[in-house]
Amino acid sequence: MANSKFEYVKNFEQPDNLLLNTWIVVRIDGRGFTKFSSKYGFEKPNDRRALDLMNAAAQAVMYEIPEITIAYGISDEYSFVFHKSCTLFERRSSKLVTTIVSTFSSYYIHLWSTYFPDTPLSPPLPSFDGRAVCYPSVQNLRDYMSWRQVDCHINNLYNTTFWALIQKGGMGNLEAEELLKGTYAADKNEILFSKFGINYNNEPEIYKKGSVLFRGYELVDPATHNAAAEADSLAEPVQQSKNQTESDKKRRAKARIVIEHLDIIKDEFWDRRPWLLS
Ligand code: ATP
Ligand code: ATP
Ligand code: MG
Ligand code: MG
Ligand code: MG
Ligand code: MG
Ligand code: MG
Repeated sequence: MANSKFEYVKNFEQPDNLLLNTWIVVRIDGRGFTKFSSKYGFEKPNDRRALDLMNAAAQAVMYEIPEITIAYGISDEYSFVFHKSCTLFERRSSKLVTTIVSTFSSYYIHLWSTYFPDTPLSPPLPSFDGRAVCYPSVQNLRDYMSWRQVDCHINNLYNTTFWALIQKGGMGNLEAEELLKGTYAADKNEILFSKFGINYNNEPEIYKKGSVLFRGYELVDPATHNAAAEADSLAEPVQQSKNQTESDKKRRAKARIVIEHLDIIKDEFWDRRPWLLS
């Protein structure tokens, strides 16, 4: 752009590039979804259509932004993970967060009628907030993912019991809340089984475990893998060659993104898919 006397205002911009060589997690969350879910009559505790819509929007985001390696969703939130070597938007936080938030929101609204064909959207329209957090080690990243999945489990066990007491037990909200105060997981399992014949273990995996999205293929070849491991041991940033980056980009753009409801706390999930964290 041509120089002008106004151009100095550009200098007021603050840099917000995220720390190099760290795993970037962008978490988005539906704004006011307690109200939103009641406006559109989401089934309680879990509306399957709403979860499928969240997953479809997240999948579309991953197709549009190939730099995302894995995503995990529960309720009205989704976490998107960028590889520590990612250089998208020069790792500028505001660019990464706003692009994900707006791409996700657009698809959520675009796909709404597929999942809720009988209830058209009307203002206030669904919107999402977002933030970016850097995790310096694979352990920190895995602990982050575990934190979200534990949250899913705790909330779902509580909500399943709470809504069983109301829907099947005829209790009022306050009464159910009172009864559950101070109870442990074992107590809730017991209430579900003895009062309602529900074995929590048999509840759908999507409700108990949330949804994990990733590309179902081997991302890097063994040579790059070893180079990355070596660079790691020297605590230096991983740098791929330009050609490698280009060919990775192409393969990523083509890869199928799968939606699973698996345990991401135990090692097995990661051990079986070494490309996700390499
Ligand atoms: P905030 O704007 O602060 O995030 P919020 O009302 O969205 O406020 P959350 O803590 O994000 O608060 O809670 C999400 C709400 O949306 C919960 O009340 C949850 O029950 C509801 N919700 C989200 N997804 C579903 C679903 N698939 N089925 C039923 N309810 C859902
Ligand atoms: P980036 O993702 O980096 O923003 P960009 O292609 O969006 O890339 P911008 O600098 O934002 O680059 O430029 C916006 C582009 O959109 C320009 O090429 C501009 O001509 C075009 N554009 C925007 N609005 C209009 C419009 N109303 N009519 C015609 N062209 C438009
Ligand atoms: Mg522009
Ligand atoms: Mg929030
Ligand atoms: Mg919310
Ligand atoms: Mg939430
Ligand atoms: Mg632009």
